Amino acid sequence: MILDIGFETMPREDLEAIILRRLKATIERVYANVPFYRRKLEENSITPKDIQSLEDLKRIPFTTKEDLRDNYPYGMFAVPMDNVVRIHASSGTTGQPTVVGYTARDVNTWAELMARSLAAGGATREDIIHNAYGYGLFTGGLGVHYGAEKLGASVIPVSGGNTKRQIVIMKDFGPTILTATPSYALHLAEVADEMGVSFKDLKFKFGIFGAEPWSENMREDIEKKLNLTAVDIYGLSEVIGPGVAIECYEAKKGLHIFEDHFIPEIIDPDTEEVLDYGETGELVFTSITKEAFPVIRYRTRDITSLNPEPCICGRTHIRMNRVSGRTDDMLIIRGVNVFPSQIESVLMEMDDVEPHYQLLVEREGKLDTLTVMVEVGEQTFSDEVKHLQDLERKISKNIKDYLGVSAKVKLVEPKGIARREGKAVRVIDNREI
Ligand SMILES: [Zn+2]
Repeated sequence: MILDIGFETMPREDLEAIILRRLKATIERVYANVPFYRRKLEENSITPKDIQSLEDLKRIPFTTKEDLRDNYPYGMFAVPMDNVVRIHASSGTTGQPTVVGYTARDVNTWAELMARSLAAGGATREDIIHNAYGYGLFTGGLGVHYGAEKLGASVIPVSGGNTKRQIVIMKDFGPTILTATPSYALHLAEVADEMGVSFKDLKFKFGIFGAEPWSENMREDIEKKLNLTAVDIYGLSEVIGPGVAIECYEAKKGLHIFEDHFIPEIIDPDTEEVLDYGETGELVFTSITKEAFPVIRYRTRDITSLNPEPCICGRTHIRMNRVSGRTDDMLIIRGVNVFPSQIESVLMEMDDVEPHYQLLVEREGKLDTLTVMVEVGEQTFSDEVKHLQDLERKISKNIKDYLGVSAKVKLVEPKGIARREGKAVRVIDNREI
């Protein structure tokens, strides 16, 4: 179902006129209210008046995750704090999170975009949505929640974890739409199986999955095991959260980007040159309706390409292909963003460990597992087993406390981690998705 026929199927020419008008207003607003953007524009001798066409966007410098970090926590906000009604955060490369804010109008915009997304993924107001995305600073849970209510569907705010109870709820409450990370969806299938519950006896019709990379093979697996139609959703908190782009269930071939709110570009990550439709590169977003936390040419680090071909669903908004990777070393483990440098800073806070470590990422059954292998000194290693186990537990607890991700910790003997010339191999990712 197309929720907002007016905007979602608008002829390109009319849509582009709206995009330009909103872009101009956004540039004026950030120039007036965000010192960071004003400085960037001034350094490049640009004033808001210079932005007269969508082409002119290319003249404006990019914004990076580092820029957001340098302005931690509220330096990028374009409104006074008394206009901010919600704050979310996501992890950053150094353990310092990226903080994003929303005005009441932003929360409403986000809810509308998520309502559109849920509708594109098969939901209607008659549906019951089992929302297994985490609630909290992470935007997944609350993003779906507000969108579901805006759509008029019933939402079960079950959040992540406590999987057996989730299966009971699925049996008893009869949800018809599942929202979760794709890996958690498969885990739900396994646990249901162990409990003797078949998805064929449940009422699910559609599943809307995202927040981590997945593949067409995984889609087939999910559709078979969960007995539903699976669609891909995309978003990131810096841009608004989930609801930036969504696949339509009619085509399931690329995700429509809500262009009346976000302008996408694909760039060569090295030369920063803007690439043509169909070419693969780094995805860049400019928000054109957000009030509290507008982003101008924000480099997402996600690798994909854009497809301007008309879609069978009738939407006129451009499609992005599945995200195929990252330009940085960020790992996504069960929906949580983890940078090796964050693990490193946790390890370096501890006395008994050496600065040599390796992260092993695997898929055990259907769930991602992270094992942190870290060297200890001669003295520690020859210590009694109990002491070593205590240390492993302590490291694991610190990682969970600081990063919100569960990790197995394995202490290894001195020189137990292979040394390399040049860049150390910090991550061994054995997942096949
Ligand atoms: Zn479509």
